[in-house]
Amino acid sequence: MENLLVAENIYKRFGKFTALNNVSITIPRGSVFGLLGPNGAGKTTLLRIINQITMPDEGRVFLEGKPLHPNDIVHIGYLPEERGLYKSMKVGEQALYLARLKGLSKAEAKERLQYWFEKLEITSWWDKKIQELSKGMAQKVQFVITVLHNPKLLIFDEPFSGFDPVNAGIIKREILQLKEEGATILFSTHRMESVEELCDYMALINKSNKLLDGKVSDIKKQYKSNTYEIGVEVQDEAALLGELEEKFVLGTAYFKSINDDLKVSVQLKDGESPNDLLQYLISKGKINHFVEVIPSVNDIFIKTVTQNA
Ligand code: ADP
Ligand code: MG
Repeated sequence: MENLLVAENIYKRFGKFTALNNVSITIPRGSVFGLLGPNGAGKTTLLRIINQITMPDEGRVFLEGKPLHPNDIVHIGYLPEERGLYKSMKVGEQALYLARLKGLSKAEAKERLQYWFEKLEITSWWDKKIQELSKGMAQKVQFVITVLHNPKLLIFDEPFSGFDPVNAGIIKREILQLKEEGATILFSTHRMESVEELCDYMALINKSNKLLDGKVSDIKKQYKSNTYEIGVEVQDEAALLGELEEKFVLGTAYFKSINDDLKVSVQLKDGESPNDLLQYLISKGKINHFVEVIPSVNDIFIKTVTQNA
């Protein structure tokens, strides 16, 4: 897949403090790329550099293979972390104004705004003032304005913060649909658990350094440990547990079960297949649960931070 955006060996210093220490990311066209890391990691700083709001001290950014140029701003939609809308202006008036700034004609702007306002079911907000909206409502308006001119690259800085779970879900769905329609999406988040299903690629940054990056599925494969959580209904739990203990490394299983199961996590040895475990269990009792343990991004983050410490 061709790369839409490449940021290469970026350094950014604020006085003596290094906010980005040789960070590189590569974003394939048509993908959703998650920039993940705790507060203060350097995510916003990197996004601001990609949006040409701040200059890096070292390093370069390429869009479609060419060094980033001020005119490229028309190809990028950016939802900044600080959500700045004019409080006393009316929603519709402001949306039209900002859409015109992005080069849309008045008719085009109206048509697209109408489409998006209907899609997000916010048409009734058109004549409200921004100050009458809640934080989440204002953020929805700003999301619409960010995507309105159909840019190739969409950059959302913490797009889910400020949203309740229902609205966060709506925004996730819209992001996936924008991807379907051909956009490339880069977003940041400090909430590692909530977004992994959205990303095709991710980079983990911590304290100004990139810890790892790549395809989410590859990273997860690399960090998984051939472990399965099982839930089995048997007559003699202790006997089965004893047998399993001889063959495998056992641990605590964390899933919830409505059955009276023996719940345990079973780590297979390298080269051992889950089919063998399953076959063995079939002869022992009723299997209600058999699921591979896939490490979460949060697990991976903690593991990488401890390894690097
Ligand atoms: P994140 O978005 O991952 O939470 P930021 O990129 O906003 O992190 O900030 C990374 C670090 O750089 C923080 O320690 C922050 O205080 C510092 N920083 C960011 N912008 C500036 C600035 N303009 N001046 C001084 N320090 C800054
Ligand atoms: Mg930030």
